[in-house]
Amino acid sequence: MRIAVVGGGIGGLCLAHGLRKAGVDVAVYERDLSRTDRLQGYRVHINPHGAAALRECLPAASWERFERSCGGGGNGFGFLTEQLKPLLVLDPEVEQHYSASRITLRQVLLDGLDVQFGKRFERYEEGDDITLHFEDGSTASCDVLVGADGIRSRVRQQYLPHAGTEEVGVTAIAGKLFLDENDWVPAELVERANSIIPTGRAGMFLAAHDGLGVTDNPDDLLFDNVRPYLMWAYAAADLTVHDGLELREAVLARIARWSPDLRRIVSASPADTISEWRIRSSKPIERWRPTRVTLLGDAIHAMTPMRGIGANVALRDAQLLARCIGEGGDAVARYEAEMYEYGFAAVRDSLRAAKQFADGGPVARTIFKTVLRTASAVPALKRAMF
Ligand SMILES: Cc1cc2nc3c(=O)[nH]c(=O)nc-3n(C[C@H](O)[C@H](O)[C@H](O)COP(=O)(O)OP(=O)(O)OC[C@H]3O[C@@H](n4cnc5c(N)ncnc54)[C@H](O)[C@@H]3O)c2cc1C
Repeated sequence: MRIAVVGGGIGGLCLAHGLRKAGVDVAVYERDLSRTDRLQGYRVHINPHGAAALRECLPAASWERFERSCGGGGNGFGFLTEQLKPLLVLDPEVEQHYSASRITLRQVLLDGLDVQFGKRFERYEEGDDITLHFEDGSTASCDVLVGADGIRSRVRQQYLPHAGTEEVGVTAIAGKLFLDENDWVPAELVERANSIIPTGRAGMFLAAHDGLGVTDNPDDLLFDNVRPYLMWAYAAADLTVHDGLELREAVLARIARWSPDLRRIVSASPADTISEWRIRSSKPIERWRPTRVTLLGDAIHAMTPMRGIGANVALRDAQLLARCIGEGGDAVARYEAEMYEYGFAAVRDSLRAAKQFADGGPVARTIFKTVLRTASAVPALKRAMF
């Protein structure tokens, strides 16, 4: 069976490795012109599920490179007030979590695969084979087509035109503070990730990355910014950023009464690291009938970043689809039956988290803070809840 994967991102590349391991004929078509065409420089948190998928699909040497390339540091999590008073602190988990450089992860995933770059997928045609058409006028054929082409997937647009994403009414402004020139940042903001829960309808997430994230390949030094930094993201439902308005000023105006350290983190972050995005999420859709075309990752279930799980769910898809195809039979049907359930459950979960994070009213906030404080004081309750 010949499998064509459109999109050489996190999910598509992991799938290609899994299929190669299973001895399946797979080709990957990527719109980027080369492996260093688009270097997205932020970190991605890989949880134990994502790590298990990578470990299963990647060749052993690539998995080891991935592990070596990850930043160390705590994976604990804190809920704090806007004055940095702890509400609840979760200790680092025993299971492995990884802080991966997105750029390095992609380079590790590309190793050992013969990805066809410069192939921007346009449409497909179904006959005995499936014929893929690319914008450069070339074509390719396959027996099964996998759309792993991200949130604006063209495969999905043709295959499930009623599916897609919508804005969730939450806007985030995010930036980076470089830690090598800012040694005043409180240790608790560097040692673990933290979520700030203020009284008003907004939230802030902070997580540090320790500046590792290079592999043992000296060329990879070119791929990433190795300076340690603290990433922050402020999100709110009523945040309408007007053209020309300084993003940093917009955040500073809204956090004027927050801890001086939080305000300093925002004001000392270089302007070119600060950006704004309107958060989108996949619309719920009914199950569809399985065919020879399928989708994985953001192409089918894009979610808000509020749980930090989009890439992990894409990796889970890749692992599952590779297993199903390797086992044969009605592989797409078995894959989609499972993926539909956990994929859209993750979409709903991260949507709820986004609304809670950015738009919880004062009463809901007070209740949530009381629950966190109570859990913090009662270890058995804390264990049960988290
Ligand atoms: C700021 C931010 C932080 C995040 N942090 C986390 C995190 O900590 N943990 C986590 O689990 N998730 C995180 N996510 C979500 C995660 O990045 C995505 O869910 C994940 O990248 C999805 O993987 P994918 O393979 O489905 O799509 P992508 O990684 O988007 O890959 C899609 C690929 O398809 C290619 N492509 C697109 N169109 C075409 C075409 N027409 N023809 C050919 N190729 C095409 C693209 O070039 C790309 O290479 C974060 C997202 C953002 C924006």
